[in-house]
Amino acid sequence: MDFSLSKRTPIVTRDDAGFGQHDMSSTDLLAEADPNIVPLSVHPVLLPIPTDMAYSYSAPADWNLAPGDIVRVPLGPRKVAGVVWPAHKYGDGGKEVDPAKLREIAHKFPCPPVGEDMLDFVAWVANYTLASPGMVMQMVLRVPAAFDPEPPMPAIIYNGGEPDRLTGARTKVLELARETYDASSGNNQPLAWTRTGLAKAAGVSTSVVDGLIKQNLFDAVSIEPRPVVAKPEAGFRPTDLSQAQAQVADELSSRIGDGFSVTLIDGVTGSGKTEVYFEAVAAALEAGQQVLILIPEISLTTSFLERFEKRFGAPPAPWHSDLTPKNRERIWRQVASGEVRVVAGARSALFLPFNEPGLIIVDEEHDLAYKQDERVAYNARDMAVVRARIGGFPAILASATPSIESHVNADTGRYHRVVLPNRHSGAVLPDLSVVDMRGLKLPANQFLSPNLKQAMTETIERDEQSLLFLNRRGYAPLTLCRACGHRFECTQCTAWLVEHRFRGTLECHHCGHHQAKPESCPSCGALDYLVPCGPGVERLAEEVEDAFPDARTIILSSDLMGGTNRLRLELEAIERGEADIIIGTQLVAKGHNFPLMTLVGVVDADLGLSGGDPRAAERTFQMLSQVTGRAGRFGRKSQGILQSYQPDHPVMQAIIAGDRDLFYEREIQMRQRGHLPPFGRLAAIIISANSKTEAEGHARQLASAGRPVAEQAEGITMLGPAEAPMAMVRGRHRQRLLVHATRQADIQSFLRAFLAAGPKTRGSVRVNTDVDPQSFV
Ligand code: ADP
Ligand code: ZN
Repeated sequence: MDFSLSKRTPIVTRDDAGFGQHDMSSTDLLAEADPNIVPLSVHPVLLPIPTDMAYSYSAPADWNLAPGDIVRVPLGPRKVAGVVWPAHKYGDGGKEVDPAKLREIAHKFPCPPVGEDMLDFVAWVANYTLASPGMVMQMVLRVPAAFDPEPPMPAIIYNGGEPDRLTGARTKVLELARETYDASSGNNQPLAWTRTGLAKAAGVSTSVVDGLIKQNLFDAVSIEPRPVVAKPEAGFRPTDLSQAQAQVADELSSRIGDGFSVTLIDGVTGSGKTEVYFEAVAAALEAGQQVLILIPEISLTTSFLERFEKRFGAPPAPWHSDLTPKNRERIWRQVASGEVRVVAGARSALFLPFNEPGLIIVDEEHDLAYKQDERVAYNARDMAVVRARIGGFPAILASATPSIESHVNADTGRYHRVVLPNRHSGAVLPDLSVVDMRGLKLPANQFLSPNLKQAMTETIERDEQSLLFLNRRGYAPLTLCRACGHRFECTQCTAWLVEHRFRGTLECHHCGHHQAKPESCPSCGALDYLVPCGPGVERLAEEVEDAFPDARTIILSSDLMGGTNRLRLELEAIERGEADIIIGTQLVAKGHNFPLMTLVGVVDADLGLSGGDPRAAERTFQMLSQVTGRAGRFGRKSQGILQSYQPDHPVMQAIIAGDRDLFYEREIQMRQRGHLPPFGRLAAIIISANSKTEAEGHARQLASAGRPVAEQAEGITMLGPAEAPMAMVRGRHRQRLLVHATRQADIQSFLRAFLAAGPKTRGSVRVNTDVDPQSFV
């Protein structure tokens, strides 16, 4: 469809009247009078670039473009894919374009249009987060290759001929290729193979197959692209649910097809939340709907895909950053076409073009991984609820430690709540105890208390597994010179350099800067005076290997050589019981089922409590519950030991006492008193620049220009500007303003007016807005 319109006289009718409602009568008449005149219509197109407006383009009226159509348009010297935007609904930035200057839409892709729901969703997310609609749409248009149909795969079929001479390799190939070829019957059903597939199956190099192709023993054919995954079957192998589980499952299933609702599954770790929401998935499948399951760290959770396959006879399509481009493309396409029925994905799966969505599940809904901080700052948990509301279908949030927000929403009745109070089939939660580290005088280089070590010894004797949890990668978080006190810091970030002993480097965990660890102090030149301070997982491993030389020890962190694949293999090995002691960061805390794990030791339970983060207590509570919840999931007696320098802290007390309700009650009261979320709202404005002067200057100007706006706004307080706790990241100096609003205040309108009142950004200055920030650094 390559139209050249150059010789035609454009007659422009402004077409933003609505979905596919073209009133072309006058232009049609003209076209009849003069066949050289092709009526054109104008379409606003939203492009994946940071702009607030849809740009206008023209296209022949008989293309019948409608909102949601994916098109390719010229943008400067480039061609980019964009979406015909319902500007009548959302506005297009209000700029009238001179018809003579309109550029033409080059191509309409043959893929299904972005649905009306999805367009509404994009507009909603942009409005809420203050990101430009173009940048939100970019998340929908991630995979441009998927807009074209999948090309048929070239393949070959054996045609019955004989080669000039036979070799061993050729025989193997022909045996396979002949398998279903029967010349005598005349009823041939030879199988099609791809060249490489046939070679691989025969265990020979492709040149052998190519040699046979040259002798005309094969006919070229093409095979239709296959689905990425088979269709899951609702009734494949239903789980035998306990009575409590069945009740919850029924309640969830009854909401399928019954419009928008949100249900919070609040159930202890191992209570069968997954089994239960699988029944809601089954109900949605039966109703002919597509399902999205969001899971943090999905790339590591192969066991989830397997469980799903056991229940439904086919795995869900995965969606995460580790997919190959080809897979990504095929999954996107098949979600849009409806071939894929269930996706299990990371937060970005929320922007996949489902055409018949009927259920979204957010597993571990409290998890921080759902928050994206860069580009469009959004929380996938919250946006999943919005997506469900726009689509008019149910959302399910599941967690053993619900976020305060969801907890409160369930308390007030905005969300339904279902509870699974016990572990499945009598498995009990671990016994928890705290070790007061304040009085302990551990030898230098040691971080494990005698209690914890004793428990580890006993665990090994029972042939069970211990997990030591320390959320610190590397060997030591800080390196000092004992002669002059020099600290190794990143020159680009407000951060210490972390020693990684395996790699022999000092690394910044914020910008990735790394350098070889020197032998002498760069400041005073003293040799052999550098000392590591504090433990990371590598250092802990040294202590463990000294104390338990015969134990099989595995360190798990994102530094593991071999990346995600290796990590997955290690996790599977642990599941099979091929390790005695596992030392890990938060990666091991999420979602895994380790049958033999009966001891969890938290090396530094206070780690999350320091700093000025209003959510610190909640995070620590969630992390500790999650980590200790790894123990004893399969019925064995288990224990969790928390090493703490603040054993009297309410979070520590609530966890030890197993008194979740007490924790929630206190935390909710505190939030209420401070008007903190969800009883008030927060937004952060981060001003960054290459120099401190620039960042400071802009922040001050912005604050003073916006002050009148802030003073007029009801229920809004502006704090700052102040240097951000992470004053520098990747060489950019950061200043921060914090907006605090009551629940009733329209924080988005305020932010818009406030930012509009400020000066234009100049030079290296950037201003980023984060509504509902989760991180306060
Ligand atoms: P959660 O999601 O609440 O942590 P899971 O659904 O993962 O709990 O269940 C924990 C373990 O118990 C899993 O291995 C699961 O297969 C098993 N389980 C839970 N309910 C049942 C059931 N009704 N029948 C058989 N196994 C179950
Ligand atoms: Zn750095």
